[in-house]
Amino acid sequence: MDKSEDILSLNRDEMGAWMQRQGWPRYRGNQLFGALWRQRAATYEQISSWPKELRQTMSERAPFYRLQAVTVQKDRDGTRKILARLWDGQQVEIVVLPHNYGYSVCVSSQVGCNMGCKFCASGILKRTRNLTAGEMLDQVRLANDLISPEDRIISRVDLMGIGEPLDNYDNVIRFIKVAHDSQGFNLGYRHFTVSTSGLVPDIYRLAREHLPITLAVSLHAPNDALRSRLMPVNKAYPIDRLIAASKFYFEETGRRVSFEYALLAGINDSGEMAHQLADLLQGLSCHVNLIPWNPVPEHPFQPSQKKLVEEFQRIVQNRGISCTIRKEMGQDIEAACGQLRRREEELLSP
Ligand code: SAH
Ligand code: SF4
Repeated sequence: MDKSEDILSLNRDEMGAWMQRQGWPRYRGNQLFGALWRQRAATYEQISSWPKELRQTMSERAPFYRLQAVTVQKDRDGTRKILARLWDGQQVEIVVLPHNYGYSVCVSSQVGCNMGCKFCASGILKRTRNLTAGEMLDQVRLANDLISPEDRIISRVDLMGIGEPLDNYDNVIRFIKVAHDSQGFNLGYRHFTVSTSGLVPDIYRLAREHLPITLAVSLHAPNDALRSRLMPVNKAYPIDRLIAASKFYFEETGRRVSFEYALLAGINDSGEMAHQLADLLQGLSCHVNLIPWNPVPEHPFQPSQKKLVEEFQRIVQNRGISCTIRKEMGQDIEAACGQLRRREEELLSP
């Protein structure tokens, strides 16, 4: 696909300008934007308010591809895990989680991931490419359509699927801004979370955007020796630089930073580690999210015992730091994010 015709990645203004360049009035761009993201039209043909000629010409000049669901798994608790096919045949995962306020969707930002974290399924398949803003928007659209074709039901977006969002910085920012547009998904910036393994320069860059989105930092270890073992990115950006960047993020945006910590039995779940973590985060306006680790067969870890997870939480809380244990959702279809795609590709490969 010619990049200039990647119509799904354009913001509303750009769509207006694009239509104008093609010789149509600018307002057609507004209409197109609404049709694509508010009405979630699957083809130009479905834009019934448009004259036939316009629909036809657009189909020829700016064809677009909608993500296709390859498999949809539904858990008893209502969690859905979608494997979606991109225009070039590659696949990404989308997870949709029910809450009392509506649904949140966990969006992938890359095909595969290059960060190589030792506990993660997504990193096993290396990054083959970045997703465009349009492909991320279309994950939200697909999630919505599979649950409720009539209504707009997605109210939160977490960039926590496959990939490192800050390694695809420009497309991710574009995605968030377009999804925020009131004529599209109309999602408040506060309803976005960007999760990063710790690309420090990009955390500063994100802070300077001054968007009130939540930053989640995947910490997983309270000291450099252990973190470098689990997450190679720590060798480039060690913990003190990561904490300084997180502090800066809070100062610039006023948003409390969330630290993700997946508990691995006998590796990072001791009381001593909990105290180290509390030392590290002392005085920082933040929240700790303890994640029960989802087993990945290729990785040699075990999830921590529930008792230890609770003890870990108690220690951190007693040190005055807000700390919760992430509710395990989608347990019977689980497979950590990234596994669904791998399983499918193993089945497909000879
Ligand atoms: N690449 C980004 C966002 C995607 S991963 C990041 O690393 O932050 C989303 C979260 O899931 C991260 O906190 C990641 O560390 C965590 N994670 C990865 N594999 C996991 C697993 N098997 N079980 C539990 N959490 C996992
Ligand atoms: Fe990539 Fe995040 Fe997985 Fe690390 S945890 S390999 S950064 S997706």
